[in-house]
Parts: sequence; C-alpha cells; structure tokens
Amino acid sequence: MLDLKEQNIKLREEARSLQEKLSLQSKIAFEKGVYWIEEDEMTKDKTKTPICPRCWDMDKTVVRQRIDMYGIYGNVNGFECKNCGKFFEVG
Ligand SMILES: [Zn+2]
Repeated sequence: MLDLKEQNIKLREEARSLQEKLSLQSKIAFEKGVYWIEEDEMTKDKTKTPICPRCWDMDKTVVRQRIDMYGIYGNVNGFECKNCGKFFEVG
C-alpha cells in the first residue's frame, strides 16, 4: 500500500514538473531580437521581462535581463547576459 502511495506521489511530481516546463514555454515569445517572458506570479500584473536568447536556446535556462543604454552615443538598447557574457541588442 505504501509503495503505491509513494509511486503516486512520484508520478504526480513528474507530471507537475513537465507541466511547469510547458507553461514556461508558453510564456516565452521572441520579439525585437530577444526572448521575453511574461511574468505574472512574481509581479502579479503581467509584464514582459527580456531573457537571454542564447541561454534559453542552448540550455532552456531563463536568465532575466535589464535593458540598458550602450554605444558611444548611448543610443543602443540592449543587455549583456551575466550568464554567458554575450551582448544582445534590443529593438
Ligand atoms: Zn546568456
């Protein structure tokens, strides 16, 4: 009896993590050269946060970024990923 119960819990956990991956994928969209994740759990209202396209494509890892101004004239919007060190222009 206990074995079945444990098995049940394990299966449920597996289903849950699979569902989490799927729901994560559905929250991510490609736009303006990078990926954006739609956040609602953390902020409670829906905002889009840019994430590193390289880290997402290669490892399916969400690395949130903050867009800053770059370039000599400060006219390039983008971010440098702290995980992989690559620079991405947004816009
Ligand atoms: Zn990265």
